[in-house]
Amino acid sequence: MSRPINKTNNKTNCQICQQPAVMELQHGLLCKNHFIAYFEDKVFKTINKYKLIRRNDRLCVAASGGKDSLTVLFLAKKYCENYSLPASLFALVIDEGIERYRAKTIMGLKKFCRDHKIPLKRASFKKEFKKTLDEAYPLINKDSKKKPCNICGTWRRYLLNKYSKKYGATKIITGHNLDDEAQAIVMNLFKANTKLAGRLGPISGIKEHELFAQRVKPLYFCPEKEVKLYSVLKGFEINFVECPYSREGYRYQIQEMLNDFEAKFKGTKQGIINSFLALLPKLEADDLNDLEQIKQCSRCGEAANQEICNACKLTAVIKNKDVVNKGVVNKGVVNKGVVNKGVVNKGVVNKGVVNKGVVNKGVVNKGVVFPSGKGNWN
Ligand SMILES: [Zn+2]
Ligand SMILES: [Zn+2]
Repeated sequence: MSRPINKTNNKTNCQICQQPAVMELQHGLLCKNHFIAYFEDKVFKTINKYKLIRRNDRLCVAASGGKDSLTVLFLAKKYCENYSLPASLFALVIDEGIERYRAKTIMGLKKFCRDHKIPLKRASFKKEFKKTLDEAYPLINKDSKKKPCNICGTWRRYLLNKYSKKYGATKIITGHNLDDEAQAIVMNLFKANTKLAGRLGPISGIKEHELFAQRVKPLYFCPEKEVKLYSVLKGFEINFVECPYSREGYRYQIQEMLNDFEAKFKGTKQGIINSFLALLPKLEADDLNDLEQIKQCSRCGEAANQEICNACKLTAVIKNKDVVNKGVVNKGVVNKGVVNKGVVNKGVVNKGVVNKGVVNKGVVNKGVVFPSGKGNWN
């Protein structure tokens, strides 16, 4: 926005039409209609500039029922209609099994999809991994000190990729906004994850690969507060419940810090994004070399950078824990050898999956295999 502010304007009216303003942007005030037009224009320009949607794409919108996903779902559909694209679109929701949270948002999402005639597909942790997040988290947390967001992120990215392919998607659209992306960039910097390009940017680093659907983020340049306002002005019925686990995650701390900084130094988040975008071409060139390292998981056939993929390793760890907890341990099997000497202590848990494999050295740091980043939605 760079329109000059009308001199007759007062401080509460839209700079274009003099109606009461709903939002103050860097360059002035906007009323409801002009804000909606400004917001949609920004999203469509992002889609065009980065070629996020192509004519014949089949689009899978990762949807949770939150404001970001409903906004991106609505605008992706509107974009295809405006440009008369033959692209088709469906929503995919992943039910992690989080009590008093996900069921509510899924209800809202169902209604939204019905109202807007968008097909809705569903995948769930329980069905795929035999455990909800609520059941899995206590099992794995004891020894590994893993946060629920780590488990959730691994499984959700896995299911998103698997089910989007199952339903023939050529692209996955996510609702990541500018705040999410700024958080993810800073998180990766703080954790020295130097291979960022695969997970970040308006379009994910993997350009073409049979094991992946590309991920794209049409809300990339939209600050969270703008998305929130847009969703409210459009009358989307959104359940603003927060994931009960979100405050336990690392991301939450980063979010608080960045909000604090933004309040003191306006433009901080945009500055992070601009710096990152300036570096992105170099990062992407580095990432292309990593494409060769992608393998197929020997258990499930999905993408992996080692013999077994992250999701399968995590499932194996949880399954072992479960066996131990259910009493096999105390009654014999474990004490006499199997668990203590074998599987759990030496094998899967301590050396393999948790400490060395998945998180620290593997997929996540390189960014190639599971592009995404958002703790709450990936
Ligand atoms: Zn106006
Ligand atoms: Zn696997």
